[in-house]
Amino acid sequence: MNDERELAILAVHVRGLDGMCIGCRAWWSRLAPYPCWQVEWATSRQARVITARFLRVRA
Ligand SMILES: [Zn+2]
Repeated sequence: MNDERELAILAVHVRGLDGMCIGCRAWWSRLAPYPCWQVEWATSRQARVITARFLRVRA
């Protein structure tokens, strides 16, 4: 339903060379180790969406 939001987060919150999240630094000037909580949230939502789609296709 809301895939764009998760994809946008995953596109911005990527791992920097120093292992910190680039998105958190760029958006909030905040240093967060990657994966930050936003990536965790987005990936867990993505996994649920993909699993739901998979089950629906198989059912
Ligand atoms: Zn981040």
